[in-house]
Amino acid sequence: MINKKFLIKKNTEFKKMSDQIKITCSGCSLLCDDIIIIKHEKDIEKILGTCLKGKEKFNQIISKNRILNPLIRKNNSLEKINWDIALDKAVQMINNSIKPVLYGLSNISCEAQLNAIKIARKINGFIDSNSTICQGQVLNFASKIGITTMTLTDIINKSDVIILWGVNVVESIPRLLSKILFSRGKFRITGREIKSLIIVDIYKTASFNVLGTRDLALIIKPDNDIELIRFLKKYCREEYKIPAGGNSGIDKQDLERLISILLNSEHISILTGQALIKPQGEGHPMKELLELIKILNKYKKIGRVSLMMVGGHYNMVGFEHIALAETGKNQSIQFRNGKSVQTEETIISKLQNQDFDLSIIVGTDPISHFPAAISKNLSSKPMILIDNKKSGTYLIADLILPTAITGIECEGLAFRLDHVPIKLKKIIDPPNNILSDAKLLENILMKLE
Ligand code: SF4
Repeated sequence: MINKKFLIKKNTEFKKMSDQIKITCSGCSLLCDDIIIIKHEKDIEKILGTCLKGKEKFNQIISKNRILNPLIRKNNSLEKINWDIALDKAVQMINNSIKPVLYGLSNISCEAQLNAIKIARKINGFIDSNSTICQGQVLNFASKIGITTMTLTDIINKSDVIILWGVNVVESIPRLLSKILFSRGKFRITGREIKSLIIVDIYKTASFNVLGTRDLALIIKPDNDIELIRFLKKYCREEYKIPAGGNSGIDKQDLERLISILLNSEHISILTGQALIKPQGEGHPMKELLELIKILNKYKKIGRVSLMMVGGHYNMVGFEHIALAETGKNQSIQFRNGKSVQTEETIISKLQNQDFDLSIIVGTDPISHFPAAISKNLSSKPMILIDNKKSGTYLIADLILPTAITGIECEGLAFRLDHVPIKLKKIIDPPNNILSDAKLLENILMKLE
């Protein structure tokens, strides 16, 4: 059956003329590389293998929500402009600014991220990615404490225990568990049968539905992750008595099981999300989790424990790598005189303190995601939006520059959630000769004085 949503205009040019094309989905950070596109003549007829979230990404090609032309806001309404005027206007806005900030950059290719960093350097701006309020903090703690990481292949082939701590992967990364929990690895003749799943969360998420009889569901009290981690740190170091009333809402029996699994399983993979990012009391649960992993790896008799941060945006990890390579910092980079300088600022403090006079937002929607007071500050200053779809931020941006969809209409490099680089292909031409994020940012860079 042909899904009309995936039919592309007859004159669309395909890069490759075969009937089936194997591609990578850029719908989320899992970057599934087993997606098949079936085409008929020059039309995309069917897309096989994506989850609903991935299908949404392909629907974006012909969505009503798609931005197809450069737009400028005049008297509170948007007017179409041509690309020459749009680029001149972007450069004029940048040249008029003395405190520009660039933000987003997790839904674009590594090539585009590099060009954005070059722009920030050239205009002595401040640049930050979505990672600053997400997984970037893990790397900051890891640089002091250390981290044991793993790839998806490690989890598939070696893990006997998978722990989801404060992350609902069934909804955020829909195909993750089908790859790592229900698959058979190279070194075992069994798959799900020997893999135990432990979920730690404050309420029953959709991921709890995957739990089997041998698995462990741990509902903890809100903001008690740090207390549980501290308890486990103490227990693993010394013979510590488990309190009769349990800890953090988890009863004694479940705690005993958890501790036994942590100390006796061979290869434990802990996957965690934003729930552990925000401070709890005076401490940081993510920092303490890294410390717990270090202790476990010291005291465990067999195997090892590893950590993977589960971010949503398809190339959030890419920004960490590109920024580190280019500036020595993975996030929150302030340039002065063309050099990265020491700063404690983040995009949040910059916007909170109104310490900016222009924002360049790339591939994200901070107006919808940030708290109202911060969104209000952001909307009070001139804004350039670079994106391929309409959003809350689109409704207030002064200049809007549309881009092609990477992995469908243009190629590029991205880093999967386990830090493995994956090449994204171009399958069809973008509408209206829209440029890729990388090319658009390169053009702006070339035009800057
Ligand atoms: S899990 Fe993510 S990468 Fe895989 S098909 Fe779904 S949206 Fe695409």
